[in-house]
Amino acid sequence: MTYRAAPGRYETMQYRNAGRSGLKLPVISLGLWQNFGGARDYPSAFEILGAAFDAGITHFDLANNYGPPPGSAEELFGQVMARDFRPYRDELIISSKAGYNMWEGPYGEWGSRKSLIASAEQSLRRLGLDYVDVFYSHRFDPKTPLEETMGALATLVAQGKTLYVGISNYPEAETRKAHAILQSLGVPCILHQPSYSILNRWIEDDKTIDACGELGIGMIAFSPLAQGVLSGKYNTGETDGARGTSNNPFLKADRIKPETLDAVGKLGVIARARGQTMPQMALAWVLRRPELTSSLIGVRTLNQLKDNLGALDNLSFSAEETAAIDSAVAG
Ligand code: NDP
Repeated sequence: MTYRAAPGRYETMQYRNAGRSGLKLPVISLGLWQNFGGARDYPSAFEILGAAFDAGITHFDLANNYGPPPGSAEELFGQVMARDFRPYRDELIISSKAGYNMWEGPYGEWGSRKSLIASAEQSLRRLGLDYVDVFYSHRFDPKTPLEETMGALATLVAQGKTLYVGISNYPEAETRKAHAILQSLGVPCILHQPSYSILNRWIEDDKTIDACGELGIGMIAFSPLAQGVLSGKYNTGETDGARGTSNNPFLKADRIKPETLDAVGKLGVIARARGQTMPQMALAWVLRRPELTSSLIGVRTLNQLKDNLGALDNLSFSAEETAAIDSAVAG
């Protein structure tokens, strides 16, 4: 059956400008890192992706190596574009990245011009697109001059292969340098994509968040639920099919520290008092900062998507609530 996007899709979602750019992103964006790889069949993937767009999620985040296996998430999204989303291309913000390991040899990762340009070409082929909306340097490469990495991003803009550029996982000092180099090339750095959650506050600690606020770079958080830990499922044991119990290299349930589970237990009490589920509170917490344009989510099921969208009903916190959250994670 031909997909028709829901007529009311822009009624409930909220949109924020990415930094000082004119690009508006939904406050909740959907990432395809882990749950949309080769093992996923098209109908079950599209059930989620179509429902996301129907709810006003216009932004879908990818990278060269998302899957598993690497590349398969872009291939799947390419099928979605070809089969169902093609009429909506101008309503969609599709991002990709290069920097982590993707193919064999010295050019399959990091930040050389060779690697970024070749990877962007590969991503466009897998996605079946002429251009992506945002292309990121996925991580800072200490062994490549930053001028070279940023120059490659600027080239991709000049070639029309991406409309905007961003950086991901860059610490504060490198964020400032990347911004300055891009500015000198006439290309604004509109987004920074770091990990950020109640349990992971490195962007506050190293002041990357302040730098982004000052420079007008929007931030889009990844792993806002700490890969599901903040949902409370590792406290209750409702972990059927969950990332931490599926031999996943990125999350091992038996390595989640008891003090983390203890903190998550306390956070559950605060979420209930706010009338929210734990994922909803975790997403709202990330979005409480004005520097944050959006929070990525990575859902495995349609119910998880629906639950997370419920965060939109209450994105604000009292000073008492944020203090209680801080003290829950302080031990
Ligand atoms: P999350 O922290 O949101 O973790 C997603 C996982 O949390 C899901 O797979 C699911 O786990 C669980 N979950 C989500 N919603 C619920 C819910 N309502 N109830 C219970 N469990 C829930 O984000 P990700 O770590 O997946 O990252 C999100 C996106 O960020 C990625 O897809 C990618 O686009 C981006 N990213 C970017 C990186 C970078 O270096 N730039 C690195 C990592 C991610 P389960 O499957 O166990 O049920």
